[in-house]
Amino acid sequence: MIVETIQATVFKGGGRRFFTKKAAYHSAARAKIKTRCTCYAGSSYPDDPGETCDYHEDMNRYMEILNRLAYIYKRVDEDATGEKV
Ligand SMILES: [Zn+2]
Repeated sequence: MIVETIQATVFKGGGRRFFTKKAAYHSAARAKIKTRCTCYAGSSYPDDPGETCDYHEDMNRYMEILNRLAYIYKRVDEDATGEKV
């Protein structure tokens, strides 16, 4: 059999499934930031290029916020379960 069905543990975060907890925590953090995002793509008119929100304006700052929020989510789960995640 070339393709077979196997069982695997997956982790759900931000509405999607991932094979690693790290990816799930980052997805949850990304989903949270997206709820506060006010980016506007603009319209088809040339004088309306759109706007970038404060979260996505600076990519270094965005990654810092994302990593920090994912770390906080991980710590919250560790505190709730009492075990290292
Ligand atoms: Zn944005």
